[in-house]
Amino acid sequence: MKILVINSGSSSIKYELFEMPGERRIQKGIIEHIGERGSRVRDHYAGLKLILGKINCVSAVGHRVVHGVERFQKPVLIDSAVIREIRCCSAIAPLHNPANLAGIMACKKLLPGVKQAAVFDTAFHHSLPGYAYIYGLPYEYYKKYGIRKYGFHGTSHEYVAQEAARILKRPLAALRIITCHLGNGCSITAVKGGRSVDTSMGFTPLEGLVMGTRCGDIDPALVGYIMRKKKIDIHAADNLLNKASGLKGISGISNDMRVLEEKAKGGSRRAGLAIEIFCYRIKKYIGAYIAVMGGCEAIVFTAGIGEHQAGIRRRITRGLFSHLRRPPRVLVIPANEELMIARQTYLLTKGGR
Ligand code: ADP
Repeated sequence: MKILVINSGSSSIKYELFEMPGERRIQKGIIEHIGERGSRVRDHYAGLKLILGKINCVSAVGHRVVHGVERFQKPVLIDSAVIREIRCCSAIAPLHNPANLAGIMACKKLLPGVKQAAVFDTAFHHSLPGYAYIYGLPYEYYKKYGIRKYGFHGTSHEYVAQEAARILKRPLAALRIITCHLGNGCSITAVKGGRSVDTSMGFTPLEGLVMGTRCGDIDPALVGYIMRKKKIDIHAADNLLNKASGLKGISGISNDMRVLEEKAKGGSRRAGLAIEIFCYRIKKYIGAYIAVMGGCEAIVFTAGIGEHQAGIRRRITRGLFSHLRRPPRVLVIPANEELMIARQTYLLTKGGR
């Protein structure tokens, strides 16, 4: 059975084709610059048409969907009710869900009758306890507006936690694992007995770690202060926190950790500072999550920085376990959200369900 995994963003569609249940990757690729001026790909429909032109048989499609709010706690087969509800979730995730939906709608048109599944980034974190996801705001804001911590990168955290258990040859249910997804976007999750019990991203992916261009945790009073000081509106403030902060903002050089390591070696103080802040924040979260779970058997690093930058991993873990009788195993596991989406789509669609 061939499963096509689609990750549809605002101006790109990434795809991978898997043969299931053997989990063999047959094809992968990306269509970029969708809808941009001068691009030959006008919209997601045109992009998907190009992709399907390269693929000759699809049994089912699995879509990455960023936000499932509280409604979607696991992957689902897509029907018109699900489409309506994903559309409703767009109010909370205006940057991501509309692009995910564009991919779903294009597939519906181009592959009529082929089953499609939605796999949500937020779903793995539905197991967070209330005391971890309710903010210190008036409680009715949660009830009325759905304001709470949702967490993201769930498919990636779930995948690497499962892989860690496999590598350690122990049941996931018996393990306390801290998973660090360190790419352009960065998040960290405490996984106890296979369930997410806390995670660093929040209502949006802005909370938590210092990222490529996102600030992560800051004093919330700063938003109003900066708006007054710089005489900017809320959109400009949003842009500042999401696109001009983090490693890029601190270093004034780049959001790319490889570039920063090079520059720091060459003597750049600001690049060095950005790296130090990045690692310090992660170390703090790991310490907090060890406390939350009452211990930890494994720490997993994944995604671009986590997989490839040993120097950063060393800085994060240096001195971290000196107080522990049994230090956790430190594992590096390549991210593979696409395989996880293919697995979940396969489970949902096999047997004609
Ligand atoms: P995204 O969140 O966009 O998927 P990635 O997981 O590709 O991001 O991670 C990008 C970050 O990883 C950048 O800071 C980059 O410098 C760093 N990185 C280090 N080594 C590599 C590598 N070999 N390939 C990709 N990214 C790498």
